[in-house]
Amino acid sequence: MSGAERAAGRTHVGRVRDGNEDAYGLARNAWAVADGLGGHPGGEVASRIAVDSALRCLQETSGTSVGSTLLAAFAAAADDIAARVEADPRLTEMATTLVLAVRDAAGAVHVANLGDSRAYLLAGDDLLQVTRDDNVAEQLLAAGALSAEQARTHPGQFSLTKALGHGDREPAIRRLHEPGGRLLLCSDGLNGELTDDHIRQLLGSGTTEQACDALVTAALEAGGADNVTTVVVDL
Ligand code: CA
Repeated sequence: MSGAERAAGRTHVGRVRDGNEDAYGLARNAWAVADGLGGHPGGEVASRIAVDSALRCLQETSGTSVGSTLLAAFAAAADDIAARVEADPRLTEMATTLVLAVRDAAGAVHVANLGDSRAYLLAGDDLLQVTRDDNVAEQLLAAGALSAEQARTHPGQFSLTKALGHGDREPAIRRLHEPGGRLLLCSDGLNGELTDDHIRQLLGSGTTEQACDALVTAALEAGGADNVTTVVVDL
């Protein structure tokens, strides 16, 4: 069974930004979302390279552990971003988030992320946030200085503590322990506009394509302040 057949993705520039610096990719048993950092030239270049390089690396690498394969995929993305900067110094400051999910030969799903693009799992009626953001709001939340609801709207959510292209290349890696369910990868243009409960309701609606459409439409209706990207996979 091909995982790609039951996966869908959608990206939208939003209602405020001039350009879309998000990117996503769907491959056989591998899915990715990246969000190029605004405020620097080349965010859309960095996010596209990250998705394409990571997915290509996964397809070409076999015979090693999933953990080492995911590390190699992030390293490939970082190296390819650096090579592009070398070729075009105007892009020196470009960087991106990357969240990458893979299904291994045994059917287990592993998620790696660096930055603040997220993975969620809808298991039954429960929505689990799989990833932790690499940003200041998450640090304050972990330290007990903010509640989850305060962290959602805290300005520290815009201060990334890690990004591909800014010297960081080692993602946090987690294995999903729940069998099945529906996986969501998204940029912060989604979870910045919608509460987890709203995401939970929409993620479960219809096919993977319909869920992507419902989520993006809701984010636009809520303001669409940022580029918004979703990848939805039935596991
Ligand atoms: Ca964003």
